[in-house]
Amino acid sequence: MSATAENTFDIVILGGGSGGYACALRAAELGLSVALVEKGKLGGTCLHLGCIPTKALLHAAEVADTAREGEQFGVKTTFESVDMSGVNAYKDGVVGRLYKGLQGLVKSKSIEYVEGEGRLVAKNVVEVAGRQLVGKNVVLATGSYAKSLPGLDIGGRIMTSEQALFLDHVPSRVVVLGGGVIGVEFASVFKSFGSEVTIVEALPRLVAAEDEAISKQLERSFRKRKINFKTNVKFSGATQSDDVVQVSLESGETIEADLLLVAVGRGPVTAGLGYEEAGVTVDRGFVLANERCQTNVEGIYAVGDIVPGLQLAHRGFAQGIFVAEQVAGLNPPVIDEMGIPRVTYCEPEIASIGYTEAQAREKFGEIETYDYNLGGNGKSQILGTAGFVKLVRQKDGPVVGVHMIGSRMGEQVGEAQLIYNWEALPSDVAQLIHAHPTQNEALGEAHLALAGKPLHAHA
Ligand SMILES: Cc1cc2nc3c(=O)[nH]c(=O)nc-3n(C[C@H](O)[C@H](O)[C@H](O)COP(=O)(O)OP(=O)(O)OC[C@H]3O[C@@H](n4cnc5c(N)ncnc54)[C@H](O)[C@@H]3O)c2cc1C
Repeated sequence: MSATAENTFDIVILGGGSGGYACALRAAELGLSVALVEKGKLGGTCLHLGCIPTKALLHAAEVADTAREGEQFGVKTTFESVDMSGVNAYKDGVVGRLYKGLQGLVKSKSIEYVEGEGRLVAKNVVEVAGRQLVGKNVVLATGSYAKSLPGLDIGGRIMTSEQALFLDHVPSRVVVLGGGVIGVEFASVFKSFGSEVTIVEALPRLVAAEDEAISKQLERSFRKRKINFKTNVKFSGATQSDDVVQVSLESGETIEADLLLVAVGRGPVTAGLGYEEAGVTVDRGFVLANERCQTNVEGIYAVGDIVPGLQLAHRGFAQGIFVAEQVAGLNPPVIDEMGIPRVTYCEPEIASIGYTEAQAREKFGEIETYDYNLGGNGKSQILGTAGFVKLVRQKDGPVVGVHMIGSRMGEQVGEAQLIYNWEALPSDVAQLIHAHPTQNEALGEAHLALAGKPLHAHA
């Protein structure tokens, strides 16, 4: 089939999730002609099955906890129950409004939105719904799926986050397989909704990608919340009947539950899409791309979860924007992966940026760290939360890591990322005035202390 003008674009994007649609919007803004191919719903995992619905559940969970804990603040409240149809209506309402807004946004730009399952049939051609879209540049943005373990079939009482988002009841007992970000967020929701929860994690600690001190504090907080967890223990199998699921561990232990949530990571959606046939280098399913998001094939870019690295929506947005600007000839600065903020929205929340203490020691040799305990932070005391802000700096140099834990601390990641990305010295931050009483003040106090002039802290 010969390329016709109406089927030829500056950029053809395969996948309309965070990475793909951000690329489309920015490219259109820059006057490039764009085709965006999506087989499911515009917005992808983040909007429909990830960030947004899970955070709505976490907010409902916070409301349930607030109802339970009123007495602690002298307010007489009682927690009655969680009505999942109401929770789902609220969650779906949030997703629906954002979906509508996003559809309107794409429609308002001159983006050719093509529905259907696309496939790369040549290095510059995506075939979809009987149409061949020719791209001077092609962007692969097909995202990720929830993985399982060998021999563990998803179905019935064994589910991934995808099904767990649509439960019509609160299960009494839940086993969460995997103590990473998605695992601890769901564990937190289920506990607040009233389930008995046990997390099973093969690694020695929960949220193992975070600084060790964060894992320790999270484990302490989860113990307090009576969220059970077993670390350093491997799953060996699960069987289910109509009434129950039996989860077996290599230690010989068996745990009985109503639901097994499998949260063991996400794999790239790349199989059977023609990537390798077009010559693109793929490693264990992931598309390899350089720091300019270019694959080894000229004119083919890759963004988002299919590229090894942090699987986060805002990384996808940034990479999508980057590629659009790169194609438009703006030569954007490369993205520092360490400068991407990370938030885990369980209760208590975790927020971090840059290097953990261990990584910084390995990379920079001599470092200094400082832990500011939220015990000295007025607003955190008002909220009744425990946690800390931990700073890691190069000896006599800039702050290279910020690690925070405590209720609502996710909101503090904004300043933390400025500190890291602008390579601020503790003394630079110490002279900025932080409003009192806010949790944000804890960041200011930590820097005051690290700069040698602690206020509400022991040196
Ligand atoms: C439970 C959960 C919670 C999460 N929470 C957060 C969070 O709080 N914050 C955060 O930053 N990240 C979070 N994430 C991760 C975030 O959702 C992803 O990093 C992000 O969606 C990745 O964007 P993407 O564009 O690479 O892929 P996706 O969003 O997966 O989009 C890929 C799109 O491509 C489409 N597609 C695939 N194959 C084809 C094809 N052949 N033809 C046409 N279309 C195709 C898919 O339908 C999909 O819409 C969460 C993920 C999950 C699962």
